[in-house]
Amino acid sequence: MSATIIDGKAFAATVRAKVGKHVAHLKAEHGITPGLAVVLVGEDPASEVYVRNKGKQTLEVGMVSFEHKLDASTSQEDLLALIAQLNADPSVHGILCQLPVPDHIDSNTILNAIDPAKDVDGFHILNVGLLGTGQKSMVPCTPLGCLMMLREHHGSLSGLDAVVVGRSNIVGKPMAQLLLGDSCTVTIAHSRTKDLAEVCRRADIVVAAVGRPRMVQGDWIKPGATVIDVGINRVQHPDDPAKMKLVGDVDFASCVEVAGAITPVPGGVGPMTIACLLANTVTACCRANGVAEPEGLTA
Ligand code: NDP
Repeated sequence: MSATIIDGKAFAATVRAKVGKHVAHLKAEHGITPGLAVVLVGEDPASEVYVRNKGKQTLEVGMVSFEHKLDASTSQEDLLALIAQLNADPSVHGILCQLPVPDHIDSNTILNAIDPAKDVDGFHILNVGLLGTGQKSMVPCTPLGCLMMLREHHGSLSGLDAVVVGRSNIVGKPMAQLLLGDSCTVTIAHSRTKDLAEVCRRADIVVAAVGRPRMVQGDWIKPGATVIDVGINRVQHPDDPAKMKLVGDVDFASCVEVAGAITPVPGGVGPMTIACLLANTVTACCRANGVAEPEGLTA
């Protein structure tokens, strides 16, 4: 058996099209253009690529993109002043501070300084609490993208056994909350979990968010289960040692033979993350202006 490949790239294009349609509606009917501000501190090359892609896609769906690139030596005080300015700016509906920030800046202080209504990453403590208590919140983009793909593939997730491998604040924990919200029976696994392979084998859904190349093996997967690979790991290219290649946390070659459905890396969760950032921005803009939110773009 070979699994259905869940095409995150194609699905992300449909999400962006939906966002674009709603942006056009907001402009035509309400005279509002959603705006997304992205703040990058320092010169981390991977972050620069993400920020460039975010800016490009923001413009493509018809929104305004505000990019703030700050020197690595920027003080926490100056960064907080910029966040306060963006919080107060009515043309900015979403604010994202690209992580990681340099060591002299406390990331929690920055994330909690962002107006929760503009917190399109969903990392503010208020949004974490709202999500945890099943209330309307801004939902972190990567787990939201995973949830959308799972709903699209399964329809209802109710009653399914889900294992989330990884318990980070940005992926594992919110992913588990979202699956619980859709009535899955959820297990959160981590580095201290005993017999992880056996835990995964019980699951109808395995979400891997670990940061370890190809860790989840085919014989960890229940036949027919759905495997969502969040991992992005750079490893040496097998054909050219001078080049790097992206692989996930899942051993695709062995898992694709057992799973019912699986996301590839690249082209799975990654494209959905940016699409969900745009979705969150349009949602934030609608909420700020008391306009009906688009259907199907949030949890
Ligand atoms: P973190 O490093 O913050 O968390 C990793 C988690 O994996 C931790 O909870 C850790 O457990 C757990 N873990 C580590 N080793 C093992 C192991 N051997 N067995 C079981 N669990 C283990 O990572 P993130 O959550 O930020 O990211 C995870 C992956 O997802 C990375 O590859 C990252 O690049 C990728 N990512 C992809 C995104 C996308 O858009 N596609 C967005 C964000 C992240 P413990 O808590 O016990 O240490």
